[in-house]
Amino acid sequence: MNKLGIHALVWAGGWSHEECTQAIEQTAEIGYDYIEIPALDPSSIDVDFTRQRLEKANLGVSLSLGLAPEADISSEDPEKIARGEATLRDAVLLARDVGSPYVCGILYSAFTKYFHPPTRKGVENSIEVLRRVSEQAKKSDITIGLEVVNRYESNVINTAAQAVEVCKRVGTPNIKVHLDTYHMNIEENDVVSAMKETGDFLNYFHIGESHRGYLGSGSINFDDVFRGIVYSGYKGPITFESFSNVVVHKELASILGIWRNLWDDGFDLAVHAKAFMDTHLKSAHESISASA
Ligand code: MN
Repeated sequence: MNKLGIHALVWAGGWSHEECTQAIEQTAEIGYDYIEIPALDPSSIDVDFTRQRLEKANLGVSLSLGLAPEADISSEDPEKIARGEATLRDAVLLARDVGSPYVCGILYSAFTKYFHPPTRKGVENSIEVLRRVSEQAKKSDITIGLEVVNRYESNVINTAAQAVEVCKRVGTPNIKVHLDTYHMNIEENDVVSAMKETGDFLNYFHIGESHRGYLGSGSINFDDVFRGIVYSGYKGPITFESFSNVVVHKELASILGIWRNLWDDGFDLAVHAKAFMDTHLKSAHESISASA
């Protein structure tokens, strides 16, 4: 069965010792296998403290981030590219030190709304940096997951097929695709086909509703999503990702457009999501046995 995780923004907008302790303890209490920590501001993460808490709770961890516009490796500005590469290299070191086997998210461009398509040279620049960063990550057995996001959050990779193409051009064994149902719901023709076509490149998965609130309360067909996961043979991690303006991370909230209150109680949301994912995974597995 896939390991199930939850995004830390369900618990807290920052990563003080108190927020870190509470997020990790509650994630473990509900029975998740790991917590995904956003590393947009690595200096806010006390690595030793976080690692100790994770070990105490026997919980796994993953790291995600998106590049800032001034660190855009898909640009044609050498200074921005250098800043982006430094950010990614630091994220790999942070992942190694905190014990995360993954660095994923919008690692190939800025995490922003673009007002123009990417340039050919810009995409080549991104691919060169990703090749060097993934070679660095390989030394610590870390996988780089390129998150496919909707058109309002990047202009480089909006579909699974585009992500597979970039992975092939990067050409390292640990560069993989990270899919997210919230984004797929906007950009893919068909969610299940996209998962199957991603095949072995699929290495990380976000489950999110169409409005990023409670699973099942929006318009995404999660029966199809979980059958897609099982039918495509995907065995990797699945993270529940949800946002409400009740828990605010200043950068993320503004870029993601978290204006509405979709939930007040992160604990209730997290308990519900765990049960929802367990049930849907079980049903998808049973649907295979039933048809065999
Ligand atoms: Mn996501």
